[in-house]
Amino acid sequence: MIELADSHCHIDFPDYESSHGELIGNARELGVRYLLNISVCLEDFPRVLAVAQSDPEVFATVGVHPNYDSVEEPTADRLVELAGSEKVVGIGETGLDYFRHHVEPADQLARFRAHIEAARRLDLPLIIHSRQAREDTVAMLREAADQGVAGVMHCFAEDWETARAALDAGFYISFSGIVTFKNAPELREVARKVPEDRMLVETDAPYLAPEPYRGKTNQPGYVRYTAERVAEERGETLEALAEATTENFLRLFRISRNG
Ligand SMILES: [Zn+2]
Repeated sequence: MIELADSHCHIDFPDYESSHGELIGNARELGVRYLLNISVCLEDFPRVLAVAQSDPEVFATVGVHPNYDSVEEPTADRLVELAGSEKVVGIGETGLDYFRHHVEPADQLARFRAHIEAARRLDLPLIIHSRQAREDTVAMLREAADQGVAGVMHCFAEDWETARAALDAGFYISFSGIVTFKNAPELREVARKVPEDRMLVETDAPYLAPEPYRGKTNQPGYVRYTAERVAEERGETLEALAEATTENFLRLFRISRNG
């Protein structure tokens, strides 16, 4: 039996008609054992945490997305305070998103630094979102690394040079459904090159459903299709890819296996 880990999903989002219990059940039927439900703003954090508390193998993060405006601005103190639950295994999602300027770049950088400081104080990994901000993101990863903080580049969609820089800074690379899209040959090349012990898979559900569900509402179980494609590209079996990425997930987020 395969045991996958979806390293990034948002099953508390209001996009779903089905309950998070049903989504978790569907995931288990598709061989997805562990889920990490990701925080995007502090206002919704109680909901994110409640989902994690509903199942022993679902976990949570705390953080504020770089491009969310009109939300509580996170300080390192506030993030540290909210991360008190043992179900919180990471800080984010944070990062930089220059695709839309809901939040100005200087404010995104300040917000990012608050997350790095919280991660350093708690000794937890960061979950990094990066869109059209390659150079600044790499600089920030190095800044984090200088403080002894690592984490994961979520929904990775950059080139190999950027992957190499993130790996050198101690970060893991997480592949989403984008890797299954017809127009992503460059990303598949990255998926072939990333070292086996530094790679994760994710859905980013409800967004970015992989083939054959592209365009539909994504759910954690579908990480199986992304894992299948990455395994195929690397000339590995799904079982081997699942084992490696799940081991990586448990190591990065310091989660011990139950039974
Ligand atoms: Zn996300």
